[in-house]
Amino acid sequence: MTAQAQGYAIHDTSKPTEFKLISYDLKTAEDNDVDIAIEYCGVCGSDVHTITAGWGPPILPCVVGHEVVGRVSRVGPKVTEFKVGDHVGVGAAVWSDGDCDQCTHDNEQYCPKKVFTYNARYENGDLATGGYADSIRVNDRFVFGIPEGMSGAEAAPLMCAGLTVYSPMVRNNVGPGSKVGIVGIGGLGHIAIQFAKALGAEVFAFTHSLKKKDDILAMGADHIIVTGGGEEFEKKHAFELDFLLTTVDSVDGLPLDKLIKCVNINGTIITVGIPAGGMLPPISAMSFLGNGCHLGSSLLGSKKEAVAMLQLAHEKGVKPWIQEIPMSRAAEAVNGVRDGSVRYRYVLKNDIPPRA
Ligand SMILES: [Zn+2]
Ligand SMILES: [Zn+2]
Repeated sequence: MTAQAQGYAIHDTSKPTEFKLISYDLKTAEDNDVDIAIEYCGVCGSDVHTITAGWGPPILPCVVGHEVVGRVSRVGPKVTEFKVGDHVGVGAAVWSDGDCDQCTHDNEQYCPKKVFTYNARYENGDLATGGYADSIRVNDRFVFGIPEGMSGAEAAPLMCAGLTVYSPMVRNNVGPGSKVGIVGIGGLGHIAIQFAKALGAEVFAFTHSLKKKDDILAMGADHIIVTGGGEEFEKKHAFELDFLLTTVDSVDGLPLDKLIKCVNINGTIITVGIPAGGMLPPISAMSFLGNGCHLGSSLLGSKKEAVAMLQLAHEKGVKPWIQEIPMSRAAEAVNGVRDGSVRYRYVLKNDIPPRA
């Protein structure tokens, strides 16, 4: 069964704010697919990297968006978890094979055959299209039920940003007594502070300047560490942290050699920010000798983690700080992400007129 969607597409990466409303076919329906009538979509840094060709040329025209929230409008014959009308969300992946080692061990986001939510193709050639649109079709393994009473607009950024910061924390045993550093207080970082607190950790927010000080304290951070301005923060905080998460997606903003010194013996640094071009700042092998720390990364999170993350957010009041605007004004959101004025996540409200 084919179905049509309408979405705001970018046709030329040199004009990444020229969104044009287009119609297109959703992927070919499979038995485990869920169709979602989109209500909200968060604006992730990945969307901006994609439509500006920061990570390479995308498939054009490109409908981005992978913080999708809406109502189930149709379910395939093998879907048992969802029914029409359910309030659900989708993050940055939409399909995996379901039977490899990764998929059968709650690591489906690492399935070698996974399909990302946009700028990706299924094995049969169908295009995966994102959430700046009125509808999306997704394998039920990648659809997450939203807890009763949670706001759809506030739930949207949890689908990518929330899960991306939550998964590495729980996989690295962040909990009561942990000392956790969060680097970069933007779309991901402002949610990371809240989840680290919700998990019981003492939180150290690393930020370039004191510009966001009041916000950072309101998010719940226990300490603010300024990385710009020539202060030798790495000496004052040497060996301080058990776990450090960096969300910075620019090379300039990431003083990795100094951050390494703030981690305790055999501690872990996870970077979830991917700068344009994909490269981290150059780092000397000798930088790791001071504490024997580990540097690694993390991709999204599993469905099991997504469900637990949404539940924790609901129970502990973890809430993205959002700026809600109509989807037809997506260009403003892209500009706000590019110039760093966003506080702290744009959420687009679907205002696409229904088709005649
Ligand atoms: Zn994202
Ligand atoms: Zn798999």
